[in-house]
Amino acid sequence: MSDLLAEVSRLRADDLPVRGGKVTAYVYDTGLPAVHEAAARVYFEMLETNTLDPTAFPSVVAMEKEVVGAVAAQLGGGHGIFTSGGTESIMLAVKAARDASGAAEPSIVLPVTAHPAFHKAAHYLGVSVIQVPVSLETFTVSADDVAAAITPSTIMVVVSAPSYPQGVIDPVAEVAAVAAARGVPCHVDACVGGWLLPWLRLAGAEVPPFDLSVPGVTSISCDLHKFGYAPKGASVVLFADPAMRRRAYFASAAWPGYTVINATVQSSKSAGPLGGAWATLRALGRDGYLALGRATLEASVRLREGLGKIHGLRVLGSPGSSLIAFASDEVDVFVVADEARRRGWFIQPQLSYAGIPANLHITVTGVTLAGVDAMLSVIADSVAAARTRGPVVVPDGLVELVASLDLSTLDDEEFGALAASVGVDLTGGGQPEMAVVNTILDALPAAKREEILVRFLSSIYT
Ligand SMILES: *Cc1c(COP(=O)(O)O)cnc(C)c1O
Repeated sequence: MSDLLAEVSRLRADDLPVRGGKVTAYVYDTGLPAVHEAAARVYFEMLETNTLDPTAFPSVVAMEKEVVGAVAAQLGGGHGIFTSGGTESIMLAVKAARDASGAAEPSIVLPVTAHPAFHKAAHYLGVSVIQVPVSLETFTVSADDVAAAITPSTIMVVVSAPSYPQGVIDPVAEVAAVAAARGVPCHVDACVGGWLLPWLRLAGAEVPPFDLSVPGVTSISCDLHKFGYAPKGASVVLFADPAMRRRAYFASAAWPGYTVINATVQSSKSAGPLGGAWATLRALGRDGYLALGRATLEASVRLREGLGKIHGLRVLGSPGSSLIAFASDEVDVFVVADEARRRGWFIQPQLSYAGIPANLHITVTGVTLAGVDAMLSVIADSVAAARTRGPVVVPDGLVELVASLDLSTLDDEEFGALAASVGVDLTGGGQPEMAVVNTILDALPAAKREEILVRFLSSIYT
């Protein structure tokens, strides 16, 4: 056993830390070890329980009803499903809308800032996507633009509360109203905000109505493995209409084995994540989440103010949440990200898209407040270093070469050699310098970026 654990710790040596607040994406730390331990303990307790058959394991039904009920109580009621994450919640919402509509060539209308999970759901479910631009000042969509994009094939429109890229809240009530007027379901993607905004509001932030209480909103997704601070594998999708929840289910009796009735994409799966989410909700409780909400709000305000004072940076839009993106006309933000990483902080780069410039993204969480001054000073130092270094220099003609390259002619080894030529070691480890890669990706159209990402992933697993 100690051998195994020693090896795990060796394998994790180059991982980013999951606690402490220096990683401003992917992980959500309360700063309260006892809460994470309670979750881990109950997760472990439920580890081998299979949610496949709720009649065999009634504990699953009891826990799920409690967790889904807690989310529904915060988000305007509804009938829910506990899922493995935001992507699955969104997949089920799109499936329900598709099956309810019966449109021959179904499509969904969404802002360019909506999460790729909708593109993935559409891809898996045979639905097409119509993207609507956002304002380049507020980064929100307008109800008029959404209305103009609705056609008889539209099975759903989407708004985000907030969107991930800039942390801004789309005009939920206005969009839901134009959708309802056309008889189209409206999904609110509150994956990141559903368990954040209610606490920010209680802590004093101005948060417009965004949930199932808004007329015209028909479904909403809310991840507990983000601002619920639960271990990964925890999200809830809520439907206003119980018949729509049934549309999300899948049943099959078309074989001679056990009867299959699934609420989610996966069939056999561990009840661990459900137990972890249940325990986290119990361990934190209303007071715990409110305290985290207060700390998150204060850290967000201080971070926004501090970023505004760093010469050369500007915050994009007016984030109505604790997700903050900043860009620069003076320094190369991808170099800033590399410089921050050298100083032990991970700040997430975002590529330019639909007129929105390349930028860096910070998710402020409960643990950020304690380190907000340190974070600001690392960003200031990184900006100064990026100013000295200047923008990344991509070898002449490389972008054009990559743009014209037919990747299907390269095997993974040749792709690895290409990556090595721009300083990326696909054999892993260490602290990669990503500015050159990000600059090249940023210069390419989305379809080419996607092709390269696929090759990148297959190469690191080769
Ligand atoms: C994280 C996120 C998702 C997808 O969630 P996963 O849990 O990563 O599948 C969808 N929408 C928004 C706004 C998100 O922030």
